This record gives sequence, structure tokens and C-alpha cells, in this order.
Amino acid sequence: MISEEQLAQLIAQKVAEELLAFRRCEECVKNRGRQLPDNLIPIGVSARHMHISQEDLEILFGKGYQLTKERDLYQPGEFASAEVVQVVGPKGSLRVRILGPTRKQTQVEISRTDCITIGVDAPYKYPGDLKGAAPITIVGPKGAIYKECAIIQARHIHTPPEDAARMGIKDGDLVSVKVAGERGVIFTNVLVRVSEKYLLQMHLDTDDANAAGVNCNNLAELVK
Ligand SMILES: [Zn+2]
Ligand SMILES: [Zn+2]
Repeated sequence: MISEEQLAQLIAQKVAEELLAFRRCEECVKNRGRQLPDNLIPIGVSARHMHISQEDLEILFGKGYQLTKERDLYQPGEFASAEVVQVVGPKGSLRVRILGPTRKQTQVEISRTDCITIGVDAPYKYPGDLKGAAPITIVGPKGAIYKECAIIQARHIHTPPEDAARMGIKDGDLVSVKVAGERGVIFTNVLVRVSEKYLLQMHLDTDDANAAGVNCNNLAELVK
């Protein structure tokens, strides 16, 4: 049985998580298309989330289920869905939102802090690489799956070809990016990903963002 105090704590924590995630994403989308001086890159903070295949979505939510779009994300076509699952490890569980649209592979992206909280040792991986991903249980309203799909997403920059050319970087480069301010940090080994589909943005997870004291409203400087 859960005590009233524990319940109150749990509710407060969940409400705070939701408000924070929502505020960050709204700021991002409003900043689309702003003109920036050379070498400045908008920061996008990725709170824990998951991508899901249609097959796994149907196991968790039922046959024929479709994701419900709740809000657009900064990168065109990407959206936060209304669907939330529990991701369970040996020491605890986390509430994780599904981002759409559905993809070929299911992938859970959590921070190092999240890993410690639930007792999972997920590897640090660049986008698209799930080799060695940690096994994890994902629980939805209609079913559960257990698969090797938990990773810590490595720092990366999304950029369209024009911005990449302007900054002198190319797809696959590993660059350094500086965040100014009183907790200023230089992030090394930031992977550059170039595509026509992207808007210029650096993705940091919450551990990196909190270490540097930044959120989605901030800018980073490419230092190479
Ligand atoms: Zn992701
Ligand atoms: Zn990204």
C-alpha cells in the first residue's frame, strides 16, 4: 500500500515533469526560423523519450493502434504523442513519452541519471546505432515487451546542407561545441548529421543540459 505522503510526492513529481517538458518544447517551436549569427546553434534538450515500431505499439496499446499527436517538435514531422508508457528496470520504473511518427525500430532514450534510478546500464550511442543496447521492459495499457533497446543518446547536431556548408562541417564529423554562461561547458565528440529534412539544432540529453545549466532557449557555439 502506498501512503498518502508517497502519493502526494508522486503526483507532484509527475506534474513537474510534464510542465517542464511542455515548456521546453513550446519554446523550441517558437524559435523556428530565427536568424542566427555564424557558428551559433540552437540547443534542443531531449528529455527521456522513446521511438516505437508499429508492431511494438500494437503489443503495448492494442491491434491497429495509432499514435495521437499532442504537439509538434522543432524538427519538422516529429511530434510528441499523447501516449506514455512505463519503462521498467531492476531498481525502478520511469514514465516515458512516445515520440512519433512510428519508426522501423523501437528505441528508448534515457539519461545516465535515469539509468542509475532504474538500475540499467545503457550504452552511450550515436543516433541510429542500437548495437549493445540494454535490455528493458516496456509496459503499456494492453501489454508489455522486453527487448534490447535502451540507450543513452550521444550529443549530436541536426543540420540542413546550407547551414553545414556555411559552418564548414559535414555529415559524420565529430565537432566541439561551446556553451557560454556561469556553468559554461565545451561539449566534445558532437556528431554532425546532415539532411534536407533537418532544421539546425544541437540535441543534448538532460544530464548534459543540466551540467551546462542550459535549456531549449539557449544557443551553443561551434568551435570545431
Ligand atoms: Zn529520440
Ligand atoms: Zn536529434
